[in-house]
Amino acid sequence: MKLHRTPLFVKILIGAVLGGILGTALGKSAGNLKIFSDLVLQILRLLATPLIFLSLLHSILSADIRGRTAGKLMWILMSNTAIAILIGLLVANLLSPGLHVSLPPPTGGVDNKPFDPLNDLLGKIPKDFLNPFANNEVIGIIIVGLALAMALRGLRSSEKHAARIDSLVGYIELGRDVTMKMLHWVFDLVPLAVMAIVARVVGTTGFGPLVNMAWFVGSVILALLLMFVVYLIRLRLGSWVRPGVYLKGAFDAFALAFSTASSAATLPVTFECATKKVGVREENASLGIMVGGTFNHDGTALYEAMAALFVAQAIGMHLTFSHQIVIVFMAIIASVGAAGIPEAGLVTMLAVFSAVHLPIEYVPLLLPLDWFLDRCRTTINVAGDLASTCIIDGKVAPQRVLEQNGLTASDQKIPGTLRPTHHPSGG
Ligand code: ASP
Repeated sequence: MKLHRTPLFVKILIGAVLGGILGTALGKSAGNLKIFSDLVLQILRLLATPLIFLSLLHSILSADIRGRTAGKLMWILMSNTAIAILIGLLVANLLSPGLHVSLPPPTGGVDNKPFDPLNDLLGKIPKDFLNPFANNEVIGIIIVGLALAMALRGLRSSEKHAARIDSLVGYIELGRDVTMKMLHWVFDLVPLAVMAIVARVVGTTGFGPLVNMAWFVGSVILALLLMFVVYLIRLRLGSWVRPGVYLKGAFDAFALAFSTASSAATLPVTFECATKKVGVREENASLGIMVGGTFNHDGTALYEAMAALFVAQAIGMHLTFSHQIVIVFMAIIASVGAAGIPEAGLVTMLAVFSAVHLPIEYVPLLLPLDWFLDRCRTTINVAGDLASTCIIDGKVAPQRVLEQNGLTASDQKIPGTLRPTHHPSGG
């Protein structure tokens, strides 16, 4: 009972410490514990495909986006995600965190064959409908999922199909929630898996690789901070909300995102912060947070791109410019398909790794760090939802915010004149 009440990150830390002790005691024979990381990988693969497929369908079908504001929102979200990934790739290329860690070579050897992204992608277009599902091919499933979602979205406007598609969305949501529930069971195994993974690494290669992973943690945090600065700049240029007002108003949402590692669980508080504390118009907050927030995960996209580069550097696999272009596209899609729950990014990362032929057996190795990095990227996911919302709210503050500050629409052009609003009802 007490064990159940202990927060997951505490259990993971205990698992890591025990793993260090076990690895030192067992020495090279700790290599046999690989079976545990294989097991975690197997379960992640099992759940990755339904989770990505159903989340992608759900995100595209349930987003009620129409009109000019919706177009603006889509542009802001997509450009933010692309910038996040580019920042991640830039930092990983410049700091090369993987060069400080040498991981054991992959089972099938390093794939340094020339990479032709176009032919590779064309080869991944499924030849029959069920094959990708039968063979657990993530990329094929994403292609089928995207096509299906677009077709259903198109048909939804016809009266003949609208009701059926609406109820189908309900079933898709059910399927996604069931998959997430099963993923939560896996969380109970995570501390054990971390113990086994740490023991194996320490036993076979010593503490060096684990300690040197600090380079990766530091690089990810730096990249996430740079992304945060991008939000503040975009906010300053494109919204009536001043960065200081945004920081003060969003604090509760950031704190909850960091403590739960779930942007979905944080959504109601993010909405509250946007409408009541920052003072954004309610209709724009609904669009930006409730709609945009379900598929906007910039921190996740940035992390997945960096993890791919990190592992490639650590195993000595050269990722060319074409590889990195593919990473950008896959990380965008994988972040849309990531649910806003803890560790979802680790699951969808399998798609990014597969797209550039990186051995997915290294994904569980990130588990010992993921409890912390997940919180950091979730905070950025939430920061992105809020910043995009403030931007679609435009450059002119709502009338009530102006009145509270004793200003008119033209006064607010003077920087720093607007203070946080504490409107009781929002809207
Ligand atoms: N935990 C993140 C979120 O809730 C998703 C991820 O694992 O990256 O937004």
